[in-house]
Amino acid sequence: MSKRPDGRKVDEMRDIEAKVGVIEEADGSAMFRIGNTIAVAGVYGPKKVVPRHLEDPEKAILKCYYDMYSFSVPERKRPGPDRRSIELSMVIKNALAPAIFLKEYPKTQIEVFVSIIQADAGTRCAAISAAAMALADAGIAMKDMVAAVAAGHVNGEVVIDLNKEEEDIEGTSDIPMAYMPRTKKITLLQLDGKLPNDKLKAVMELGTKSCEAVYEVEKKALKEKYTPAESE
Ligand code: UDP
Repeated sequence: MSKRPDGRKVDEMRDIEAKVGVIEEADGSAMFRIGNTIAVAGVYGPKKVVPRHLEDPEKAILKCYYDMYSFSVPERKRPGPDRRSIELSMVIKNALAPAIFLKEYPKTQIEVFVSIIQADAGTRCAAISAAAMALADAGIAMKDMVAAVAAGHVNGEVVIDLNKEEEDIEGTSDIPMAYMPRTKKITLLQLDGKLPNDKLKAVMELGTKSCEAVYEVEKKALKEKYTPAESE
């Protein structure tokens, strides 16, 4: 029984695909696709801080840049940074920072660029998952991975991974979540819309369970790059 526009069950995410090592010139990179939302992340560093007076003698500075391409959405997005991309860059940075041993790299900066080449809702979460894999690919010391997906409340039901069509339904609430699966800590929790109090527990449970599933996809993609092929 499903009321979802694309026929999914309430606890069913869209089809997910992940690949590590997609940008030759980056120190680490990854692609994460969930349904029609595609994020590509490139990590550069740890490297020298420019300008130098901004360096922190205690730890690395983490810089994140989120960019949604003009052609990623049906109605052309004006190119370049805007309020939304500045906010999402900050949100993504805050979701990733707790997972990184920044103190291992004093006086340096780590740059994370995430490009959304196709958007059908859930781009901040796809960006976080792509960036976490790219950081691991860059060999940055991490205490945990970060996996992200948005839960929501649509037509009175708690659902996972809303697409744009569902996001646009009257009364929908969107709850993006990022989660560190080993330490079981939430590093991003936002709420756009209203959520009845008695639904919060179900949202948190479905969200964390789904982040665990995203984590399995991330691990598989990393292993695919780093496990040597069996010789014949
Ligand atoms: N969107 C759009 N044009 C814009 C910004 C967003 O079409 O300028 C669409 C896009 O599909 C995006 C969705 O609206 O994924 C939801 O955007 P939101 O700001 O809620 O963040 P997201 O769900 O992508 O993390």
